Amino acid sequence: MLRVAVVGSGPSGCYTAQSLVQLDNDVCVDVLDRLPCPYGLVRYGVAPDHEKIKSLQNNLRTVLEHERVRFLGGVRIGPDGVPGARLRELYHAVVYCVGAATDRHLGIPGEELPGSWSATEFVSWYSGHPDFPEHERNGAPDHDGFVAGANSAVVIGVGNVAVDVTRMLARGATELSPTDIPQGALTALAASRVTDVDMVGRRGPSQARFTTKELRELGSLPDTEVTVDARELELDPAYADPSGLPAPQRRNVEVLRGWAEAPPRAARHRIRLRFFLRPVELLAEAGRVGAVRFERTVPDGRGGVTGTGRYEDIAAQLVLRSVGYRGVPLEGLPFDAASGTVPHLGGRVLREGAVSPGEYVAGWIKRGPTGVIGTNRPCAKETVTSLLEDAAALARRELPGDPLTALRADGVEPVEWPGWQSIERAEAQLGASLGRGVVKLPDWQSLMNAVHGSAH
Ligand code: NAP
Repeated sequence: MLRVAVVGSGPSGCYTAQSLVQLDNDVCVDVLDRLPCPYGLVRYGVAPDHEKIKSLQNNLRTVLEHERVRFLGGVRIGPDGVPGARLRELYHAVVYCVGAATDRHLGIPGEELPGSWSATEFVSWYSGHPDFPEHERNGAPDHDGFVAGANSAVVIGVGNVAVDVTRMLARGATELSPTDIPQGALTALAASRVTDVDMVGRRGPSQARFTTKELRELGSLPDTEVTVDARELELDPAYADPSGLPAPQRRNVEVLRGWAEAPPRAARHRIRLRFFLRPVELLAEAGRVGAVRFERTVPDGRGGVTGTGRYEDIAAQLVLRSVGYRGVPLEGLPFDAASGTVPHLGGRVLREGAVSPGEYVAGWIKRGPTGVIGTNRPCAKETVTSLLEDAAALARRELPGDPLTALRADGVEPVEWPGWQSIERAEAQLGASLGRGVVKLPDWQSLMNAVHGSAH
């Protein structure tokens, strides 16, 4: 029996485990995660109001409940946990599916001002990620730190995460209450006075990264007006004649054209989509961010933009920098800093250009933070195909026994599937006590209390 460790239980980890057990009856898989909860970005990245995408958890659940798959949560791989080298001793093969754990930086003055956050932090907060650094105000957790004191927000970037955070800022309690959003984030967003959100791209509408379905959804938000300035759209040469654009971009441009031509109407929330503005500085006001300074850009004819030396300040007491995720190096694994990925050949990890036996990657750490959840399926399958080609050679090495026994002997106490099920029960109970559906537990203490069966 080939024993494989999959590090990370997000979509790429689950699809890797699924392919492994589907394609080979002689494989068993441990899916390890540093959190006690599975599903990675499906649980902690997909916005709570996207319930249909979230329901993918049900598909991933069937993978983790497969008889030859074990979920081992609460196991950190790395220097402050189980070293990667130890994992390779315990398993015939290790597949790293650790995603892209951090966010890209703008590298402009004022980026660290209070009130300026990465979209990742905001997403982690409303998703109840237990690592979200809790803010203290007068010694108490400051749950409404994001929106408190803000009436306008700027979202930098025009990808799907930018659309998610913009939409969440315009959502009210009625729409969020039926979701699994943690109670603290719900209360804060319900009390939010943010009425104006500018979502700003440095290039033109035909280069925006959002998908049309997500873009259109902004136009269907209750009591929300979406505006676009036709003069900005016209700076894009493809706006006058979009027929040469690939279909997804052409559809985006048509949605934007519709908004640019729509008559103004009164609404509580205004979302403005802005283009050809590149952020150059975050400006302070009363000790926190007060505005973002942008330089007007124009197309350079090669898909990029050049600055014009003309500037525009957009007022905002909340700035969300949504400029993409980034992979982080893993102790003991090679890493290409330029792309934020692990060098590989068909999913086989490459060390100084040579295949490293028994080490594989799948998902964002393999190909970078692009694509939708389903993109991880073929990506995982490619890696698994490589691994199974190597299986005969890998299985020749004798292992010390059941890795779980060895991990326990090393002092590691994984959260197994029943532990996760206790968390699910506690979240259902919490929701019932609040008159809501399932409500996420947003901190380590309550998650671990649930695992160990104590009251939270
Ligand atoms: P993304 O799609 O890569 O978009 C990043 C945005 O940031 C782009 O508009 C980019 O502009 C901009 N940007 C980068 N550096 C910048 C800078 N220095 N100054 C100003 N703007 C800058 O990343 P993402 O939105 O984080 O999404 C990551 C992946 O998750 C994507 O594949 C996305 O589709 C997926 N996702 C999907 C969903 C969904 O399906 N509902 C939801 C969330 C995320 P340039 O193009 O000019 O570089």
